[in-house]
Amino acid sequence: MVNRFDGKVVLITGAGSGLGRASALQVAKEGAKLSLVDLNTQGLEETKTAILEVAPQAEVLLLTANVANEEEVKKYVEDTVKQYGKIDGFFNNAGIEGKQNLTEDFGIDEFQKVISINLNGVFYGMKYVLAEMKKQGSGSVVNTASVGGIRGVGNQSGYSASKHGVVGLTRNSAIEYGQFGVSIKAIAPGAIMTPMVEGSLRQMGGENWEEVGKEFVQPNPMKRFGKPEEVAYLVAFLLSDQANFINAAVVPIDGGQSYKY
Ligand code: NAD
Repeated sequence: MVNRFDGKVVLITGAGSGLGRASALQVAKEGAKLSLVDLNTQGLEETKTAILEVAPQAEVLLLTANVANEEEVKKYVEDTVKQYGKIDGFFNNAGIEGKQNLTEDFGIDEFQKVISINLNGVFYGMKYVLAEMKKQGSGSVVNTASVGGIRGVGNQSGYSASKHGVVGLTRNSAIEYGQFGVSIKAIAPGAIMTPMVEGSLRQMGGENWEEVGKEFVQPNPMKRFGKPEEVAYLVAFLLSDQANFINAAVVPIDGGQSYKY
């Protein structure tokens, strides 16, 4: 099998858990050099340990940073370029769900918090990474949106606004940067079993969250949660040269649920 990421540098935010970690493992297995960003330093270290088990030769740079802070974003991009000289793939993925509540009770502070991480963080990442990719004349960006970014889910004002915003940012920048050899796309995952989804089920069901989870997936045509590895296969493909002509696309990975609402 061809190693799609031999000699390639991949930068991933939210790499200390869930979809970011699974995607880091996948591209590392295929030869990538990695720059991994997260607020959670311990999560990053666990990801690195897991990578070195499956890809002992992998080069892994860990950068603790808050994606909602523009200066920290600028620095994680600079540190990546200083270390590796380029960025071939950027998985712009860090995000939070926020509390679930009716719109009138959602809370201004909560709304701003979710927007600052999920939307501002994605914008800052694109601002600094796209400048590098434009200079290089190549690169692929995958932003993490959500089914909540293409459909109404309910009780998620901040999340919904931020993820619809990620879809808008993706389409807008894709139109601008295609001419420089850079493609930009988004993924729209449905419910994938990660710590974020566990937290969300705990908000609904407390200690009974696993039972709530079984109920939760019944409307899904495939009647199950997605697995982080399934998202990682998609992300690796979209970050690879094989997907260079896929630009401005928003790819659902949700068992078909978003077509059913
Ligand atoms: P997760 O909680 O397992 O991982 C998210 C990671 O992002 C964590 O390691 C966390 O520390 C990090 N993070 C949070 N805020 C940060 C910040 N300000 N700066 C830097 N790092 C920060 O969640 P996940 O399920 O892997 O989610 C990853 C992305 O996928 C998110 O954008 C989420 O909205 C999106 N998503 C997830 C699902 C799902 O079902 N799991 C569905 C749709 C979209």
